[in-house]
Amino acid sequence: MATPYHNRYLQIDLSTGAWSTFSLPEDVLARYVGGKGVGAYLLAQHQDPRAEPFDPGNPLIFVAGPLTGTRAPSMRSAVVFQSPVTRLFTDSYYGGFFGQELKAAGYDGMLITGQAIHPCYIEIDDGQVAIKDAVGLWGLDTFETYDALRPDYPEREWRIACIGPAGENRVKYAVIDCDPHRQAGRGGGGAMMGAKHLKAIVVRGTGELSLTDPQGFKACVRATVGSMNENDYIKGFRVGSTAASIPWADVEGLLPTRNFQRGSFPLASELGDEAQREKYWDRNFACAACPVACSKEGSLKEGPYAGMAGDTLEYESAGMLGANLAVGKTDEAIYLGLLCDRLGLDTISAGSVLGFACEAVERGLLDADVRFGDIESLSALADDIAHRRGVGDLLAEGVRAAAAQIGAGADYFAIHVKGLELPAWGPRGVPGMGLAYMTADRGGCHQRAFPILYEAGGETWQGQSYERLALDGKAQLLAEVQNRLAGLDTLITCDFARYGITDEQYLDLFAYATGRRLSLAELYTLGERIWNLTRLFNLKAGMTKADEDLPRRFKDEPLADGPAAGHYFTDADIERLRSDYYAVRGWDEHGVPKPETLRRLGVVYPHA
Ligand code: SF4
Repeated sequence: MATPYHNRYLQIDLSTGAWSTFSLPEDVLARYVGGKGVGAYLLAQHQDPRAEPFDPGNPLIFVAGPLTGTRAPSMRSAVVFQSPVTRLFTDSYYGGFFGQELKAAGYDGMLITGQAIHPCYIEIDDGQVAIKDAVGLWGLDTFETYDALRPDYPEREWRIACIGPAGENRVKYAVIDCDPHRQAGRGGGGAMMGAKHLKAIVVRGTGELSLTDPQGFKACVRATVGSMNENDYIKGFRVGSTAASIPWADVEGLLPTRNFQRGSFPLASELGDEAQREKYWDRNFACAACPVACSKEGSLKEGPYAGMAGDTLEYESAGMLGANLAVGKTDEAIYLGLLCDRLGLDTISAGSVLGFACEAVERGLLDADVRFGDIESLSALADDIAHRRGVGDLLAEGVRAAAAQIGAGADYFAIHVKGLELPAWGPRGVPGMGLAYMTADRGGCHQRAFPILYEAGGETWQGQSYERLALDGKAQLLAEVQNRLAGLDTLITCDFARYGITDEQYLDLFAYATGRRLSLAELYTLGERIWNLTRLFNLKAGMTKADEDLPRRFKDEPLADGPAAGHYFTDADIERLRSDYYAVRGWDEHGVPKPETLRRLGVVYPHA
């Protein structure tokens, strides 16, 4: 039967330069579908969870979803690896066109191991793979890397993924920048590339994807895009950006300010859409086959940073590089975001690390020249981190490791869960969100579930409303949302486009494309299966119940702002939420999946 699956994966060993292809057993594809599921399976099969962070044998896995590269709206791609900063399973998603090009070249993914002797890049030209010299590219930032490669690899014909200095220097929250400037941002995939001496990957694919029912698929795409066009969220993302949520988060007391010391920032209005629209936005940008085009590309046209161009502030960068660092001038926050993009730093983690550094200096625990609100010292420190200069070397390890080295109670204000710095949504005042951070498989992450929608955003889940500060029912809510999103991450749907596409529509698209009809219940069970597989990986990597906790700041300091002011997490709250969650999941009191849970889901750990 014609389907968009190639069931062909590239395997490249940079130590030897050898490459080959492999296929997955049909039953694995049936059980894990694609995207996150296949990535989790391959990682479990090829990664020793106890290996050192940059062991050359550690795989870096690029995967697409079954609909990536088709006309199904807004499908994306992923990189899966064991994070060097959390030591946990990590899936990091990116938009743009690189994943689609890899599909057109004939691959559903690629698994890269080994370490080249000298800096190199990989060239994939349909069925041909070559390892090429990148000594001349080493040291360039991401923007310069694209410019240097473009004469040989023209835009649109070739797609590029690359790293900046942060990746080269193994900064543990370095990104992989995927053509054009869509980042696989979280968990340090860029550091993985740097450790392998892999500066870039260029790919050209000229193949077409097959579909089981092309006419049915086409009609389904048309209907899906039609309903997206009527959706208010989608309309909002078109005319605005995700930074439109900044004023709302500010009013709700959820906007991290000064390293999460406050939940509201007096200059928040300078970081939202209205402050950026007229002066800085130049055009909308859309990822492949996306009718939304939520990204706003722009430029700084005057002032000290005139000439810098690229992505303007979306919500997370505005929150973490703006409010969290007390940077309240629009152009300065945009500049810091663009600087991180050029250096190849994750803007979320960079904002958290810089905030941690500012507070450590204020408390007399760190000897560094950096201050909240001071763009010069903040940008200089970001550059030092990317190049591991001076105190930047310590901060390149992330806030958990930096706090451990500083000691003297610095862990109190190191804002992370399981080593991953939190994004720009404070958890005080939204306990379900706190539990989401505690239990996310890749560490402190808002993309594995976002209960804020139901706790403070007025949305219902399965027809049910949730009282904001209540603990009852939050574990059940969270597990169901996590299962749903893990299921959808096998297709690699976009977080934002998803607001305008129903789960039934996704399953229709999948059925027309592949001939396989999944029910909603099967989709959510698929997500639960993957959630248990990543759980097993993390337990083998050494994660324990004690790691599923929140930073002490959220337990010792009541929230100062917003309608939930005064809220904080007690140890009893943490214990209650966590034990409720383990029970809902069918895990024992230590958070270990029970044998009957694994049997019910058909999870068997895939040793090599
Ligand atoms: S909604 Fe935005 S992030 Fe999502 S696929 Fe479209 S352009 Fe990319």
